[in-house]
Amino acid sequence: MAQQSNSCQYIFSDVQKPDLPLIHGENVSSIFEGNVLVTAVNQINFGIEEGKITAIIGESGSGKSTLLKLIYGLLEPNTGEVRYRGWLVPTRKDKLIPGHDAMKLVSQGFDDLNLYAKVWDNVASQLSNTNLELKASRTQEVLEQLRIDHLAQKRVADLSGGEKQRVAISRALINDPEVLLMDEPFNQVDAAFRDELQQDIQNIVANTGLTVILVSHDPSEVLAMSDYLLVMKAGEIADFGNPKELYSKPNTPYTARLLSKSNILAPHEAKILGIETETLISILQENVSFEENSEGFFWIKDIKFRGSYNEVILGNEDLTLHMIQFPKSVIKKNTRINILVSSYHPF
Ligand code: ADP
Ligand code: MG
Repeated sequence: MAQQSNSCQYIFSDVQKPDLPLIHGENVSSIFEGNVLVTAVNQINFGIEEGKITAIIGESGSGKSTLLKLIYGLLEPNTGEVRYRGWLVPTRKDKLIPGHDAMKLVSQGFDDLNLYAKVWDNVASQLSNTNLELKASRTQEVLEQLRIDHLAQKRVADLSGGEKQRVAISRALINDPEVLLMDEPFNQVDAAFRDELQQDIQNIVANTGLTVILVSHDPSEVLAMSDYLLVMKAGEIADFGNPKELYSKPNTPYTARLLSKSNILAPHEAKILGIETETLISILQENVSFEENSEGFFWIKDIKFRGSYNEVILGNEDLTLHMIQFPKSVIKKNTRINILVSSYHPF
């Protein structure tokens, strides 16, 4: 994607910093003043790479949406700075219309859509009328890209959640932003349609070089589609890296719980399984298994039906583990067992 003129200097006194990633934050804080001070983002450093999908994940209230607003320029950092292509991101004090011109934000909910207008008009209205032919062809192109061209003449109000989300993304993409920001974009999309939308976004990134930053609290969606994961905890970055690596080798127990609902054991609990360790360890649910043994020290505590798999809870009075079982044979609660752990990860 060509570097657009709006990727440059907004702030008169600013000097471009060389050799930074596309988006770069240094010592960035955001503090909300009310009855009490809330430090939503606390002195973080980060870099976002161009042409990739970066997911910001963390529990509710960890500062994800605040970080997205800092990147877009909707919030002024209380400490530090955010730069885009080496230039300071302008905020409300620098710019009349909030938000960086090279970026588009698709917010939670569909606040920006006109529910009673047609899909076509919602999307086309983002373009000027200087070239009507181009306006029509570009609108058609972006509707096709998001596979909603057959819905062009429908009112947005009559669409499903997933279709509305596709309209919102079309609207955001029609002016060729360099960065697409999305806050919990799949919340209102049925699980069955989520995979397709995620795949379509991945294809757009691969075909156009668009940079995507999306906020989520759902590991299954970000693990499937992101190139990088930025894990937020209480306003700080708990982890950053490749999703597969963070899944199998999380740097913190928080990341392990968030991404995989891993079993986190203290040394004395690990010892019950015969694992000697001086630190906490995590054991992925899929790395736990059992064999029936009427003399076994452990037993099946509970079995939860999860559709395509069972979540089996097992252990003894001092230890509880969760595991995933694809049931071939039926196992009963209270069956005596041996527990087998194929691998674990020390912190
Ligand atoms: P997340 O998106 O991860 O759920 P947020 O970034 O929305 O978290 O919020 C982080 C923290 O900042 C929370 O404690 C939240 O209550 C607080 N917060 C967010 N926005 C405001 C605001 N406008 N005024 C006061 N506190 C806020
Ligand atoms: Mg949020």
